[in-house]
Amino acid sequence: MKKPITLGDILAARKRIAGHVIHTPLRPSQSLSDHVGTPIWIKCEHQQYTGSFKLRGAANAVLNLSDAQKAKGVIGVSTGNYGRALANAARNAGVRAVICMSELVPHNKVEGIRAQGAEICISGQSQDEAQKEVDRLVRDDGMTMLPPFDHADIIAGQGTLGLEVIEQLPDTETLLVPLSGGGLLAGVALAAKSINPAIRVVGISMERGCAMIESLQAGQPTSVREWPSLADSLGGGIGENNLYTFNMCADLTDDFVLVNEAQIADGIRAAYIDDQQVIEGAAAVGIAALRAGLIDNPGKTVVLSTGCNIDMNLHRRIIGGENVDLALEAEQATSKTGGA
Ligand SMILES: *Cc1c(COP(=O)(O)O)cnc(C)c1O
Repeated sequence: MKKPITLGDILAARKRIAGHVIHTPLRPSQSLSDHVGTPIWIKCEHQQYTGSFKLRGAANAVLNLSDAQKAKGVIGVSTGNYGRALANAARNAGVRAVICMSELVPHNKVEGIRAQGAEICISGQSQDEAQKEVDRLVRDDGMTMLPPFDHADIIAGQGTLGLEVIEQLPDTETLLVPLSGGGLLAGVALAAKSINPAIRVVGISMERGCAMIESLQAGQPTSVREWPSLADSLGGGIGENNLYTFNMCADLTDDFVLVNEAQIADGIRAAYIDDQQVIEGAAAVGIAALRAGLIDNPGKTVVLSTGCNIDMNLHRRIIGGENVDLALEAEQATSKTGGA
């Protein structure tokens, strides 16, 4: 039987990772506040080391390994940000790291992980396929597999972000949380609601393939088709044998909201033009939902901006106002090469 994760685990995580992560700024957004008509703050976690909050969970998990486990190394499967975070956390702890990923992961993210000193293995068309390669390396090399979200230490580490927000703005009424595998939402909502049960937590994802929301609707983990999306960090399934995040997201989420590609692009653009922040698509879904009027009665709202790892050419095109459709571009690229 697995033990439930508690506020105590999140407090312990904060102690463990202090010195490995920074406290990121909570920044009032005048333009979003004006747009929505209530005070809105952006939690600038895209300024975290490695460019995303994923360092919190990864650092907590690596630092909590036994010496024997540290000696054999860690292995992870990632859409990019988790790989970068795990590689960084492992390097700082003097631990070997191997990161496996699917072929859909953008080039800039692969290079970002390599730059952190990890060994890279690319395999498969989806996160679930890459996971098979991880299982093989665990069997053969005795490495410890640390999953990107469905793990007690990862969830507790992400929860430290929730603690930070509540300390920075104790009377937060609504928290907007980007949602994929649900490690972030589970940890942040547990921290926030343990301190103030009245806080409303809204999980936000992209219309193109949100596995958690579809799974919760189906009542069990469900796999979804993976589409190229501006919110590439929100891709991937929740795992057939989900241990924690499926139930925690069901219990701790007050509302779910989906945003489309044009809305995500609008969020990236607004973050840059109005608030001087370079953020990636996954990080822009909260801003996108607010600007599209998809959040009812938000009140004092904190929107978690979770990462900044976006291809600079893509960012430039979006800021320039281009209507970027990555699925269409992928289709056109395939039909060109397919015809040859
Ligand atoms: C991983 C990630 C998320 C989603 O986190 P989950 O724990 O998988 O729900 C959101 N934003 C960014 C930038 C991410 O890298």
